Amino acid sequence: MVKLFWSLISRHLASGGSNGKLSIFIFHRVLAKADPLLPFEPSAEEFDWMVRFISRTFSVLPLSEAASRLKNGTLPPAAATITFDDGYADNLEVAWPILKRYQVPATFFIATAFLEGGRMWNDDVIEAFRLSPTDELDLSEFDLGSYRLSDAASRVKGYETVLGKLKYFEHHLRSEVAGEIASRCNVPKQATLMMTHRQLRLLHEEGGEIGGHTRTHPILERLDDTAALQEVESGRQELEALIGTTVRVFAYPNGVPGRDCSARHAEMARQAGFEAAVTTRQACATTASDIFQLPRFTPWDRTPFKFAMRSMMNLSQSI
Ligand SMILES: [Zn+2]
Repeated sequence: MVKLFWSLISRHLASGGSNGKLSIFIFHRVLAKADPLLPFEPSAEEFDWMVRFISRTFSVLPLSEAASRLKNGTLPPAAATITFDDGYADNLEVAWPILKRYQVPATFFIATAFLEGGRMWNDDVIEAFRLSPTDELDLSEFDLGSYRLSDAASRVKGYETVLGKLKYFEHHLRSEVAGEIASRCNVPKQATLMMTHRQLRLLHEEGGEIGGHTRTHPILERLDDTAALQEVESGRQELEALIGTTVRVFAYPNGVPGRDCSARHAEMARQAGFEAAVTTRQACATTASDIFQLPRFTPWDRTPFKFAMRSMMNLSQSI
């Protein structure tokens, strides 16, 4: 009954064909169990009901197929794509078995430099706030403030503030500073979170669509054009060498149009050989959308009803 209800509404709000709308869901991690330090990442249990809802309400397609059908005006009613950014190992270990259970495809955007034992700079900071040996973390020498760490909530608030500032540092400096903060807080170097090359190949062989996400995840708008194009192209080449097939779709790191990426970068994605690209602008795509700047949205709600409601509301936020 519930299945029929949402499915009818989604088909009413998003008819297919030349009026087609595409909802592109965005995820980063799916945690084996809930983690108070990562309250915005769904647990396996939450992801299970999210995928159950999505699979019963939408026609889920891999992004490359969805983008080309959007362009050709041949989308099914209530079309959707499920995407993951960055290349976390939990995408294969936790999310993939759930996606397989509901038989829905997904697209995984991978920043190649962190595979095989690397760690992204943001995780250096998050793990530092988790493991800080003192309850006062003073980062004022990096111009990043000082934090009292009394409980999980203050640790989350602290790292969010630091990530918000550090995100816009020059990208070599950003990695250096994040690495330094991690080492001061005794974060083990071997604590890796990303997929190995073998895991990435396995995900691809099992049917996961692999997409580009640059090599080192820079904010493209902060790079000069030569360096930005180099990041977009080399990430794609490395992925193609790893999985032995064409990589067709791309996600801009951080991805807020006008702030993190722009029409120049959309042109670079096209030039690098991609067929479509996604941002993090929150909306639903229509046939009028730029195929190289498709919006994405995932409700932040943690109850099935609110998650479903907000997914439906997004269908009227089209660009
Ligand atoms: Zn990313």
